[in-house]
Amino acid sequence: IKFSDLDLDPKVLKAIDEAGYVSPTPIQASAIPLALQGRDVLGIAQTGTGKTASFTLPMITKLAKGRARARMPRSLVLCPTRELAAQVAENFEVYAKHLKLTMALLIGGVSFKEQDQKIDRGVDVLIATPGRLLDHFERGKLMLNGVQIMVVDEADRMLDMGFIPDIERIFKLTPFTRQTLFFSATMAPEITRITQEFLQNPERVEV
Ligand code: AMP
Repeated sequence: IKFSDLDLDPKVLKAIDEAGYVSPTPIQASAIPLALQGRDVLGIAQTGTGKTASFTLPMITKLAKGRARARMPRSLVLCPTRELAAQVAENFEVYAKHLKLTMALLIGGVSFKEQDQKIDRGVDVLIATPGRLLDHFERGKLMLNGVQIMVVDEADRMLDMGFIPDIERIFKLTPFTRQTLFFSATMAPEITRITQEFLQNPERVEV
């Protein structure tokens, strides 16, 4: 299987070619077509398997059409740590470099002012840690009812860090009609429970 078989936006294909990727990894080959079809995906995958591209590439392809509105992000990626969120943002920049999509990174240790300005102008992709995202929400700076695609990355680490209540709250603030791409290295009972509550007929992809 080749990336060009996957129905990704041609500008995304160009960027991954320039990044030197030759063929999709197993998680990418399985998850990308499902995500492009609009399915909810439950991905069981470790770091190093290429899971970041497996949600970022279809997300960018879907967002290529349409435009961001002020304070209403069109997609949301939740990560357990600042470092991971920053890595996802770096990947996004590489894959989306030929598209005019806007992104904001909401993590602790960065001033609210700069983040607020970006959100005010409208972002296609919001990459955030749960606590920081809820801080912005509670300050009334952000609406989540425009989210079409929501990604939860490294849910098992979210659980270890006590973020599951925040994740549940964020799920409830986004539209029921959103698409959800949910990744975890392991499936603890608490993780299974929230996937059953918030994912709709998910396709499970395991590598
Ligand atoms: P991840 O599991 O998402 O953290 O990705 C691990 C590393 O593999 C990252 O440095 C990616 O840039 C790289 N990568 C992801 N997909 C591919 C691919 N299809 N071909 C080559 N490298 C890749």
